[in-house]
Formats: sequence, structure tokens, C-alpha cells
Amino acid sequence: MSKLIFEISRKDRRAFELLSTRIEQKKAEELFPERYLRKEPARLPEVSELDVVRHFTELSTRNFGVDSGFYPLGSCTMKYNPKINEKVASYSGFANIHPYQPESTVQGALRLMYELSGSLAEITGMDKISLQPSAGAQGEMAGLMVIKKYHEKMGEYQRNKIICPDSAHGTNPASAAISGFDILQVKSNERGMVDVDELKRLVGSDTAGLMLTNPNTLGLFEEDIVEIASIIHKAGGLLYYDGANANAILGKSRPGDMGFDVVHLNLHKTFTTPHGGGGPGAGPIGVKEFLYPFVSVPVIEEKDGTYYLDYNRPDSIGKVKAFYGNFLILVRAYAYILSMGAEGLADVSSNAVLNANYMLSRLKDVYDVPFGERCMHEFVISGEKQKKMGASTISIAKRLLDYGYHPPTIYFPLVVKEAMMIEPTEAESMETLDEFIAVLRKINDEIEDNPEEVNHSPHTTVVGRLDEVKAARTPVVKYSFENNDQ
Ligand SMILES: *Cc1c(COP(=O)(O)O)cnc(C)c1O
Repeated sequence: MSKLIFEISRKDRRAFELLSTRIEQKKAEELFPERYLRKEPARLPEVSELDVVRHFTELSTRNFGVDSGFYPLGSCTMKYNPKINEKVASYSGFANIHPYQPESTVQGALRLMYELSGSLAEITGMDKISLQPSAGAQGEMAGLMVIKKYHEKMGEYQRNKIICPDSAHGTNPASAAISGFDILQVKSNERGMVDVDELKRLVGSDTAGLMLTNPNTLGLFEEDIVEIASIIHKAGGLLYYDGANANAILGKSRPGDMGFDVVHLNLHKTFTTPHGGGGPGAGPIGVKEFLYPFVSVPVIEEKDGTYYLDYNRPDSIGKVKAFYGNFLILVRAYAYILSMGAEGLADVSSNAVLNANYMLSRLKDVYDVPFGERCMHEFVISGEKQKKMGASTISIAKRLLDYGYHPPTIYFPLVVKEAMMIEPTEAESMETLDEFIAVLRKINDEIEDNPEEVNHSPHTTVVGRLDEVKAARTPVVKYSFENNDQ
């Protein structure tokens, strides 16, 4: 590892001095209260311009992204983000406008949002779209608040239970809880699908709704979806569709047709915005007409060719974010949809599903496949056999780093032991898939020969195995002089 920037610091070495930004000491004393003034100069690294360039360039290469290699992260579609999106999002008419500008000066931006809403409604089979939520989880919360408000409007205050399958993405029960619901869990049956008989036992006059991902997190299409929808609707509940990963259904099937009342999409996953590390995102929701009065404000409307933001909606849940959402992500999604076209989007699903099935069929003799002979856009294998030989799934994931791949999602969904959830996406070539398959098979051979070697991986990365809990709870993000004084 190269030296930290503080370690190469030499007294009075300078890159470039921005004289004009300096405030004279006397002036500063006039402008700011005493307690805001530095007693001593900040301890910054004293380095040359070349040192700075090398430092940041080196740091940038430590990140792994879709642009650096294969990233088969199940349930978090990491697919290629076409660069044309970036170009369109950088147009000054999009990038340099301000939310407080008069509507008459941003008609193009409003029209883009209006037309994007139309496309998303068409893709999902819903009547109306609300673009404001800025992440999948926030879309879930907004959608659940809509469901809650609807029941309250109907005078059904007792409807306080949301049903989630045991394979659900963690955000589903979390969003339900934060929206004030109690959560009931419905078990998966031996085929990895919602157990319809148990669902029948769970519904009642307190059912607010069911949250479902379809295809579910095992990568399987819930075949009984029409019956499931009818059970929930007959009980007076509503159906929520978690469409974070819509790569299997684009142009093929629509949540609206399956009977869902509310859906969210993750534009940053399915509709190609670079994402990760917590943002940025866009999680618009789609609703059936009868729920439209409740969505967050503002909504974008059109009258006689003029587009405007409508805030005058008395039954709305209010705002879930400032203004109308993460605008430049909406621009990227719009560019993506237009550049793909309807047929292109349907091809995305065909290829995403084909790629996943190809990989599944070439891995299943080596890794256990607990559910399903066929899959949709992703699949779940288990490392139980490998664990018995001495190296568990975490070690397989770490070993993949040595071979230059981002590991798949591991230990999720919870219903599969030693789970590895793989989503190759439509964008990858057969050669890439073959290479990754070969590596996963090779790691299995390595475990057979010498599991310890795999257990000590990664061998090639800047840092080895992190204490992930500690890294998240007590991160050390700044240089400390205490032990490293110059
Ligand atoms: C990613 C994901 C979410 C959450 O989306 P965020 O934008 O990360 O909040 C919800 N559900 C599923 C199935 C997901 O894959």
C-alpha cells in the first residue's frame, strides 16, 4: 500500500495557493465571533500538486464498481449504466436549473417528469406515478402511508397489520414498522413460494395489506399471484409490490395486471443510475387511480399544453422529500427508457433471465440449489456443501475478491442457509459469465484441496477481512496524529 498523504507531508511544501480566498486575520475578527476563529493553523498535509493527484487517483482505484468489473449482486441490480444518460443529465438546461425558478421557465423539465411518469405507468400497469420518493425504502414508506391514509379515509382504523413473506427484503418489514403497522410473517412453502393456506389463516378485518416482491428474492415467480391478490382484496386489504428489481418483468408482465394497488420502482437499479454506498436514488411509486388523491405533493399535471406542480391536494400524505424528487436521476431514467424503447426493454428482461438461467444451470452440479430448477433474473445457491468441506460462504465471497470480482449478495434471503444470491444482469457477455462460472467452480476445487487457503482470503486486496459491524458502528474516517506524528 502506498503511503498516506500525511506521511509524505513536508513542511512548507505547497501545491497551489488560492490567495484570493484568504481572509485577513483582522477582517476575520470583525466578521466572526471569537469562538469560531482558529487558534492555530489547521494541520493539513503539505504536499505538491503531483502528490495530491497521485493520492486521489490511487484512492479512486480502490473502489469497485460496475465500470471496473463484474458485480453480480443479487437483489440490487448492478448493471451497466449507459454513458449517454450522463451526457443528457449534464445538459445545462437540466443540471443548472433551480427548484424555485418560475414554472414557465422550466416547462421542459416538468414535461420530462410528466412523460417519464407516463412511461413508468405503462411499464408497471398502474394508473398514476408519484416521482418524489428518493430511494426504494422511501418509496415503500410513502406507499404504505398511502395505504394507511386510504384505510383511515374509509373509516377502517383497525387495519394495522402488514403481511410480509419470510423471504422479504429487509426494508419491507422495516418500512411497515416505521409507518406504524404491525408485521405478520407468512412462511414460504417447500417450493419457495408464499404458502397460500397460511396466508388465508393470517388475513382478517385487521389486514391493511401484503407486501410482495415478484419474482421473489429467491428469483422465483409467485405462480399463485392472482389467488394471493384475491385473498387480500376479499379481506379488505391492499397489495404492495416491491419493484426495486424489475429486470425480469420489463415488457413482460405488469404488477398492475397481477392485482397490485401500489408499486415502487428503483430507478437507480433497473433504470440505470450509478448507485451504491447509500445514494443517490429515486424510488417513484405507482398507484391505482383510487389511491391517487393520497400520494405525496406536489404532483405534475398538464393543462392545455402547460405543465405545473399541483400542491392543492387535501388528502395527500404531504411531502416525503423537498420539491419533486431527485431530478437528475429522473432524467437518466427517461434517457434510458427512450434509448431502449419498448422492445429494447423487453429484450432486457429476456437477456437478464437467460443469463441467470445459464449460470444457474452451469453451477448446480457443484453448489446446492435449494429452490427451483429455473429462475428469473437472479438465483440463489447455497454453500452448505462447501461449508461441510471447511470453508463457508463468507470465505467464498472473500476469495472471489482475489479473482477480481465483486461477490454476490450473501446470507440473504434468510430462508436459505449459506446463501449466495447471484444476479448477472442482461448487460454481461457470455465470456464474462463463463469466466465467473469457472472461478466459482475453481474455488470449490480449492476448498476440496485446501479450505484453509480459501479461509485466509482475500490475499490481494488493500485490507483483508474487516469487522463489518465495527466498521459500520464506529468508523474511523480521519487521520489521527496521535500515533503518527510527523
Ligand atoms: C434495493 C432494494 C430495496 C431498497 O431500495 P433502496 O433504494 O436501497 O432504499 C427494497 N427492496 C428490494 C427488493 C431491493 O432490492
